[in-house]
Amino acid sequence: MLVRRLAHGLGYRFRLHRRDLPGTPDIIFPRFKKVIFVHGCFWHRHDCRLGGRLPTTRPEYWLPKLARNVERDRMAEAELARLGWSVLVIWECETRNTAALQDRLRLWLSPKDRARQVDAAGARWCEGVHHGEGVAAEAVHGLDRSGRL
Ligand SMILES: [Zn+2]
Repeated sequence: MLVRRLAHGLGYRFRLHRRDLPGTPDIIFPRFKKVIFVHGCFWHRHDCRLGGRLPTTRPEYWLPKLARNVERDRMAEAELARLGWSVLVIWECETRNTAALQDRLRLWLSPKDRARQVDAAGARWCEGVHHGEGVAAEAVHGLDRSGRL
């Protein structure tokens, strides 16, 4: 799988499919308390062309099923966040641009960037800057806007 290969190439150690974590994340970085889900656009209703496709046969069966997938994803992500894990969702359609995906993985996994993490939708997962670390969240955000550290 591409995402696995990229993470490996960046030199990170990870585990796969831990069933003891909510939603059974695809890739787990125990040292950093970070997990990645790789979602199929159709099955998880991504906001893209693939995800917007509707099942042509038996919609009365498929639509509730797909809606349940989305609901399950949401609950798993919330539960993981509550347990202190950072979550990154990578969509199937995003794996076509290998270079961009590698950049995103590098940034997300980088320990230097711990105060600010960006998930697939551009939403921010802020681990919070601990007092005493000497870095204000504002400063980190500022740095990022002006040319990515
Ligand atoms: Zn997609």
